[in-house]
Amino acid sequence: METENPTDTEFGEYNSKGEWRPPYNVEFSPLFSWPPRPKATLKWLFGYPGFLWPWHIIFFAVTCISWLWLQPSLERCATFSFDWIAQMFARNMLLLWGVCGGWHLLLYSFKKQGTKQKYDPRWQNKGSKKFLFKNQVYDNIFWSCLSGVPFWTAYEVFFMWAYANDKIPYLEWAMHPVYFVLMFLLIPFWREFHFYWIHRFLHWKPLFKMVHSLHHLNVNPGPWSGLAMHPVESFGYFSVILIHAIIPSHPLHMLFNAQLTALSPAGGHHGFEGPILDGKLPTGSYFHYLHHRYYRYNFGECTIPFDKWFGSFHDGSFDTDPSRPWGDGKKPPTTDMRSD
Ligand SMILES: [Zn+2]
Ligand SMILES: [Zn+2]
Repeated sequence: METENPTDTEFGEYNSKGEWRPPYNVEFSPLFSWPPRPKATLKWLFGYPGFLWPWHIIFFAVTCISWLWLQPSLERCATFSFDWIAQMFARNMLLLWGVCGGWHLLLYSFKKQGTKQKYDPRWQNKGSKKFLFKNQVYDNIFWSCLSGVPFWTAYEVFFMWAYANDKIPYLEWAMHPVYFVLMFLLIPFWREFHFYWIHRFLHWKPLFKMVHSLHHLNVNPGPWSGLAMHPVESFGYFSVILIHAIIPSHPLHMLFNAQLTALSPAGGHHGFEGPILDGKLPTGSYFHYLHHRYYRYNFGECTIPFDKWFGSFHDGSFDTDPSRPWGDGKKPPTTDMRSD
């Protein structure tokens, strides 16, 4: 039956715990579909919302702005000194506060979306001893700023110094323009590959206990949860940048890779399914929310189906509903991270 004023209960569904899920299962991009789906792939690449537009293009623009106006010149980076390192640290802080703070203001302070399309109806935790300062948001900000940003900046600083001193292969735009552009398109794939394996490694029991469990305190993640990581995890997570020590690249590529790694998690952790704001803004990751919810599934992202290939995929159907087929016929997850 159709109603004139559809509410969120008609889009998606709720389980007995009051959790919401979209009315479709998680899907991977059509890029690696078999048999190939050329039309769907082109649409995914160039359509809206798609691989390029809006988010990769927005982050590319952020990188260009950073490079042109907020980045110390390569000559200055030839010798380590406080002034240019502090400038990069401050720039990164500003970018992180802009992105995570922006999402937080929009969805959690001004509550522009209410709880519509919010996977977990609860707001960020206050009072639980498991979080620093007994406050999930403050805890997440603490780790993002004192673990995430320092490691992110340290890699960038080291690489700027290495480019300036010809320690690593430097790619000139004018000499190889096609390769120069291609590198930007390949970086997100490299990032996803790196993330999947480093993330699986972090789920190795001893490492999970000592390191990665800190990120997983966020069973109900928010915008600031993305970079809320133990220092060892930050070190591993940002090692995605090390590729530029081997593959010829320009500092702009390195910066794009680093900023994508630092700034994109906020949109994948804010806990809402896009498009939000009356269907205008594509964002969110039910895929990664499920990782926080069930933690044994969905280690990667949605472009390259590593999770499908390596048997760790959860398609997002509620395990409470026995009538639903459950991702590739696998057993439903038995481990529920949600404790309260
Ligand atoms: Zn996460
Ligand atoms: Zn994890």
